[in-house]
Amino acid sequence: MGARHGLVLGGGHAGMLTATVLARHLDEVTVIERDRLPEAPEDRTGLPQGRHTHALSGGGVAALDGLLPGVVEELVDAGARRMRNPEDVLIHTPAGWLPRYDRMETFLSVSRRLLDWKIRGRVLGNPRVTVRQATDVIGLTGDAGRVTGARLRSRETKAFEDLAADLVVDATGRGSHAPKWLGGIGISQVREELVDPGLVYVTKVFRALPGAERSFPTVMISSDPASETPSAGALLLPVEDGRWMLTVTCRRGVTPPSDDAAFHEFVRGLKNPLLDTIIDRAEPLSRLYRYDLTDNRRRHYDRLRPAPEGFVAIGDAHCSFNPVYGHGMTVATFGALALHGVLAQQGIAPSTARLAQKAVARATNPVWSMARRYDIRFRGTRGTNVTVLDRAVQAYDRRLQRAAMDSREIVAAQISVFELTGSPSRLLAPQILRQAMRRPRGTGLAEPPLTEHERAVLGLG
Ligand SMILES: Cc1cc2nc3c(=O)[nH]c(=O)nc-3n(C[C@H](O)[C@H](O)[C@H](O)COP(=O)(O)OP(=O)(O)OC[C@H]3O[C@@H](n4cnc5c(N)ncnc54)[C@H](O)[C@@H]3O)c2cc1C
Repeated sequence: MGARHGLVLGGGHAGMLTATVLARHLDEVTVIERDRLPEAPEDRTGLPQGRHTHALSGGGVAALDGLLPGVVEELVDAGARRMRNPEDVLIHTPAGWLPRYDRMETFLSVSRRLLDWKIRGRVLGNPRVTVRQATDVIGLTGDAGRVTGARLRSRETKAFEDLAADLVVDATGRGSHAPKWLGGIGISQVREELVDPGLVYVTKVFRALPGAERSFPTVMISSDPASETPSAGALLLPVEDGRWMLTVTCRRGVTPPSDDAAFHEFVRGLKNPLLDTIIDRAEPLSRLYRYDLTDNRRRHYDRLRPAPEGFVAIGDAHCSFNPVYGHGMTVATFGALALHGVLAQQGIAPSTARLAQKAVARATNPVWSMARRYDIRFRGTRGTNVTVLDRAVQAYDRRLQRAAMDSREIVAAQISVFELTGSPSRLLAPQILRQAMRRPRGTGLAEPPLTEHERAVLGLG
């Protein structure tokens, strides 16, 4: 048998982690990336979302460390922040501020450029992995029964090439053309599901205020699904190099700010003035960045009949999420682990791709259900019907949310589900059900639970 070759289309988060997995099971791995990948932590054209706030959930941190042991520590050494949730998170809900209980989970707050650079450095240090940069994937090769490789075009020489592989993994992200590429070799009808909240992200970077460069909480102002008028939210993430990234999120019907004055006006108009107080005194470090492609979109490659051999889709190419939940990178990491599980069991065999795609789908399903469940609470969401069961679940969620205001146990369950460390069934545990069903108090704290130091940093005396 000749050397086994794996081909990874796309060198983003899912692509690099997939390359690391394939390198454990195959002899050679080639990553195809349209960008020239920066030698330093820098933004790049092929990853426009990289300029926006990104947090890696608690479940994602553990999964990433499982795939690349020690990389999380390297990131923290380089300035990424470990955020204890909810101890380091100020959450303003429609019912008020959540109490700041002791740590229940820990997520990572880090710029995408630093995260990707560290991961890339580790993955490309593996001698089995090579990357073909400035190269577009423009199609797949093979036939209706089997994908045998990909068709490439160099951005620099404009030369075309067909590259053969034993396994092709599509990790070209949210804009993947795989349904069209598969159609080109006779595999058609990839069924797609869409839940479109019509959300727009607008982000600006600030220098942390003096005294807060190394430690300051994340601040989250959540949108109100019960609001009659379209609702806005915001997220401030402290990242490396003493910078704060502030994103405002505009649900359908909210006009996104298009210049600095409008951005400040927008922040001033949020349901709570804390973020206005914060940025009023902070030095801006960037212009505004806007991002509009935020729908939840799942492609059912796992339901193709017959399932083509030799092809798996992973990460955003398989399923992308409304970014407001911060789950995309974690699901991509879970997907890479699922692929590893199948390859470890049976290596490359006729059923590998089919089983791997099913495993990736299984790892994705609970997160998809959660995103759908949250997004259909908002009036402007399109693309899916709200069922009677959905309404019952929404009513339960509302009770939970109110009861959480004075229940540490409910907050712990919610946070573990949200951080993707615990199963959603935790929210239905008997003691949680009991607490949700009793008459809930329903109000949070009226003032943000800032420490004395944080108040001093903000000049609040
Ligand atoms: C505004 C925003 C904020 C987000 N915030 C969070 C967050 O807080 N937490 C979180 O977990 N997730 C977040 N996400 C989701 C996260 O960005 C994605 O889930 C993650 O990047 C998926 O990784 P991926 O490798 O599948 O895709 P990407 O990271 O997008 O990588 C795709 C790669 O493929 C390359 N490529 C594309 N087409 C081709 C082609 N034809 N040929 C060659 N190369 C190609 C691209 O250049 C890119 O390098 C956010 C998303 C957005 C839009």
